[in-house]
Amino acid sequence: MVSRFADWLLSPDPYGGPPIYATECTTCDEASSGAESREDPEVWCLRHAARTGHTGFRSTVTTFLRATPRSGLSSGPA
Ligand SMILES: [Zn+2]
Repeated sequence: MVSRFADWLLSPDPYGGPPIYATECTTCDEASSGAESREDPEVWCLRHAARTGHTGFRSTVTTFLRATPRSGLSSGPA
């Protein structure tokens, strides 16, 4: 993903680490811990559903972005 606004460029942060996946129950306040794959948070949902009967969940993916001045870049047409 690359977004441009005025003289700034927004792109994935190469130093931000991998995406972090997490899920939370929409019925109560319990939430999974963050993980670097979807699998663990999804297993948490199924275990939570089996334990509580709660069936609704919110899934979030956290990614890291970095803004850089375009004047510092030499690639691409203006
Ligand atoms: Zn719940």
